[in-house]
Amino acid sequence: MGKRLAVVGGGASGLCAAIEARFENPDIDITIFEKMNKPCKKILATGNGRCNFSNKDLSPAHFYGDKGFLRDLLTSPFADSEGFFRSLGILSYEEDERLYPRSQQASTIKDALVNKAISDGVIIKTDCAVTEIKKNKYSFFINGEEFDAVIICGGGKASSVHGSDGSCYKLLTDFGHTLTSLHPALCGLTVGDKDLNLLKGVRAECEARLYSGNTLLGCENGEIQFNDKAISGIPIMNLSHLCENKKNLYVSLDLCPEIDEKELTEHIKSSATNSENIEFEVVLNGIVNLKLGYALMNRCFIKPKTMCGNISNQQIKNVVSMLKAFEININSTKGFDSAQVTKGGIKTDEISSKTMMSKIVDGIFVCGEILDIHGDCGGYNLHLAWTTGRIAGSSAGSFLK
Ligand SMILES: Cc1cc2nc3c(=O)[nH]c(=O)nc-3n(C[C@H](O)[C@H](O)[C@H](O)COP(=O)(O)OP(=O)(O)OC[C@H]3O[C@@H](n4cnc5c(N)ncnc54)[C@H](O)[C@@H]3O)c2cc1C
Repeated sequence: MGKRLAVVGGGASGLCAAIEARFENPDIDITIFEKMNKPCKKILATGNGRCNFSNKDLSPAHFYGDKGFLRDLLTSPFADSEGFFRSLGILSYEEDERLYPRSQQASTIKDALVNKAISDGVIIKTDCAVTEIKKNKYSFFINGEEFDAVIICGGGKASSVHGSDGSCYKLLTDFGHTLTSLHPALCGLTVGDKDLNLLKGVRAECEARLYSGNTLLGCENGEIQFNDKAISGIPIMNLSHLCENKKNLYVSLDLCPEIDEKELTEHIKSSATNSENIEFEVVLNGIVNLKLGYALMNRCFIKPKTMCGNISNQQIKNVVSMLKAFEININSTKGFDSAQVTKGGIKTDEISSKTMMSKIVDGIFVCGEILDIHGDCGGYNLHLAWTTGRIAGSSAGSFLK
C-alpha cells in the first residue's frame, strides 16, 4: 500500500496542497477531510462572486506577518498564482492590478481545483469535520484512519458560515504549536455617531485616516460606504486589522483628497457668491453626496435651507475643515462573522517557510489562513492560500517519497 497523506480542510489552500502533492508524488494516497457538504464553499463568495485570486502588485507592503517568512513565500517558485491557474486552463482578467478569472466567475476557480483534484485520484470526504489528530511514533490517526503525513489547512475564524470556525487551531496547539492573538481583519467598523444614521447607503471617494487618540494608525484611499451603524469599503476593510487592542478609535475622512483647503475655500466662496438666493446645500452637493452635505452642515451648525447669501466666511471655513477631516467615532470591528480574514494564527516561527512543515512535529504541514499571516484586500489572501498550499503539498509529497 502507498503512503497516505491527509489534508484537513478542503478550501483554497487545501485543494492546492492536494494537487501539488499528487504532482510531486504520484504514488501516495491523498484524502481531504472537509467539514462542509462541499469543498471550497468560501471561494464562491470571494471577490463578490468573481474571485479576486491574486494581484499584479505583490509588493511586501500588502502583506502582514513575519517579514522574513513572507519574503520566502513571495519569492518561492510556487508564488506564481496566475501561471498556476493558467496551467489549469484559466485565463485571467485584470482590473486595477487585481486578477480575476477571465470568466469573472468564482466557480471557474473552484471547479478547476476540485475537478483537477478528483481527476488526480484525490479522495474528498465531505461532512467530515476533524476534531482530533492522534499520533504514534510512525503514524497520524484521523477519524479512525491512519496516515503518514498531514496537511492542516482549516482556515482562520473569519466567516464561519463558509466553514472556517477556528476549530483547526486546536489540532495544532495540541501538538505544542502557539496561537497568537486573533482579530477580525478586512471587515467593516461599527460607528457611534448618531448623525451617520442618515447616511446609510451613501458612498464617497475619500482618504480615510484611522487614529487611536492622537496616534495615526494608518491611511487608505478609495470608496467608503456608510451602512447601518457601520462603515465599510476597501479603505476601511484594509484599516480594520489595525484596531486590535486600541482605544479611542476614530476615522477622519478627507472627503476631497484631490483638492487642497485653499482651492476648496475659493470654489465654495465663488459658488456661494454666484448663488446668493440658492440654498447652501446645493453648493455642497456640487462637491459631495447631498446627504453628506446635510451632515456637514449639521456638524457646522448651519440650518438646512440656509441661503448662500446668509453664509459667513467663518461658516465656509468650518465646512472646508469638515470636508477635509470628517471624524467618525469607531466602536469596534463588525466581528469575525463579517470579516474576510483573520489577523493572527499559528506562529510562523514554528513553521519552515521553505517547506511549510512544522518545526515541532515532522510530518505535519500547515498552510493558508490558519497561519499568522494575512494581506490587504485585492487578492492577497487567496494568493497566500494558493502559495502556502502549493509549497506544503509539494513538500509533503516529497517527504513521503
Ligand atoms: C466573503 C469573502 C470574500 C473574500 N474575497 C476574497 C478575494 O476576493 N480575494 C482574496 O484574496 N481573498 C478573499 N477572501 C479571503 C480568502 O477567501 C481566504 O483568505 C482564503 O479562502 C483562505 O484559504 P484557506 O484554505 O486557508 O481557508 P478556507 O478557504 O477558509 O478553507 C478552509 C476549509 O477548511 C474547512 N474546515 C475548517 N475546519 C475544519 C475541520 N475541523 N475539519 C475539516 N474541515 C475543516 C472549512 O470548511 C473550509 O472549507 C474572502 C473571504 C470572504 C469570507
